[in-house]
Amino acid sequence: MEDINKNREIWKEMMHEASAKEIETRILPYAYERLSSGKFVVTGYFGGWVLLSEEGLDSLKSEDFYENKDLYEKLKNSCIIIDNENLDLATGIYSAINRNLFLQPSLHMINVTNTCNYRCRYCHAGVSQGKDFMSRETALKTLKFIFKSGGPYITIEFQGGECLLNWKIVKLVVEKSREMNKIFKKDLHICIVSNLSLLNEEKLRFLAQHDVAICTSIDGSREVHDANRRTLAGHDTFNVTNDKVLFVKDYYKKLNLERKVDVLATITRLALEHPKEIVDTYVRLGIRTLHLRPVQNFGDALSRWPELTYTPEEFYDFWVKAMEYVFELNKRGIDIMERGSFNIVCKVLNHTDPMYVELMSPTGMGRTALLYNFDGAVYSSDEGRMILEPVFKIGTVDQEPMEVLGSEDNINTWASSFLDLTCYNSPFRPWGGIHPVKVYQDQGTIIPNVNMHPEYRIYAMQCKYLFDKIAEDGFEKELFMKWAGRVIK
Ligand code: SF4
Repeated sequence: MEDINKNREIWKEMMHEASAKEIETRILPYAYERLSSGKFVVTGYFGGWVLLSEEGLDSLKSEDFYENKDLYEKLKNSCIIIDNENLDLATGIYSAINRNLFLQPSLHMINVTNTCNYRCRYCHAGVSQGKDFMSRETALKTLKFIFKSGGPYITIEFQGGECLLNWKIVKLVVEKSREMNKIFKKDLHICIVSNLSLLNEEKLRFLAQHDVAICTSIDGSREVHDANRRTLAGHDTFNVTNDKVLFVKDYYKKLNLERKVDVLATITRLALEHPKEIVDTYVRLGIRTLHLRPVQNFGDALSRWPELTYTPEEFYDFWVKAMEYVFELNKRGIDIMERGSFNIVCKVLNHTDPMYVELMSPTGMGRTALLYNFDGAVYSSDEGRMILEPVFKIGTVDQEPMEVLGSEDNINTWASSFLDLTCYNSPFRPWGGIHPVKVYQDQGTIIPNVNMHPEYRIYAMQCKYLFDKIAEDGFEKELFMKWAGRVIK
């Protein structure tokens, strides 16, 4: 694992050697797209970009820009043309927006149970079939595996099912990991994803004392949330989640803890008509980060997929309405950020890597993120355990981390995510990636047809929208710059 640690240094040395040699000015591969304003966004291979007029783009295509000082400088600053002077800049941009390439696994998701006291219509984890709990023995082996495989950063995230149904294992992992970290001295973060229904003061006290972040789901307005997320007995859950979020926030406030509750929204067909109400629910709860994620065709969602789903264009229309409302609220001084946009503008405007696994290329699955199942199986992603075939099972916690990470199945997954060749003519390729499990579930193969993949199509439309706003150079761009400068753990 130490070899991986050295990668960044080796990369820097190689680039330093390269820049010591004389490199003749050359044009790197680039891609472009016309924006609504008529300007073109042109993106270079390393992730630099520039906005050009049609005339400027024609000059680039015909390579007659050398006499045009202004255009030449623009192309050089964006690393679309390259020589000795800007090689460091180009490799610096690439390594910054792909920081994940130089890190060992950092996100370790533990599925402590596959059962739940809720029956959400879209449950990706497929809890209707679940009845299993992680044992103490498997939890301890999992922790050993994590600390052996991790680099300097470790985030342990409890997943389910409903994690609080296996509270004794959650407690054990939290206590043991904090104890082990006194020896390993990692930058350790712990987070629990829960529907919060079983959260009481005793559990919250424990989580707060051990610095465990809390994440839950609210799908928007009461109407949408209650239609999607119901208890096993068929009861509404909006009030419970709403009250528990306020309970946690109040508790933090009483203790003067600078913490927030993370909340996610899964967008089903039903939500498409309610963009404003969804944003308003978050604002009312004092939640400042909104993540609008498309529903996935995993687990229990499969049995009612036609009634949950929509086209990429329908999702995009919904998202645009939500974004326009987010801008309006920010103009009124209400600070609220859309997390999906953040993941993109971070790379585009700030050249930083938000470490969002789904936008990594090659995929972050089985590389920066691992999932440990209740039975000790290791999967390359959370979604990997949600499909029936064990295609993304890459080992067990009884093995050595290097053996699991280097397994043929895992390497094949990474390799497949490089095959995003059909989007090489997209200017948005340097900031995106594909998710092999979602590709497999949609297309029946791990070899992606990127342009046909719904989430990639949504990503491309979102990027174009964000660039339209950036090109306007107004309030929205300022807001994106503010978002891009934030650090999200
Ligand atoms: S989505 Fe979460 S809360 Fe809902 S049934 Fe599945 S595991 Fe339970």
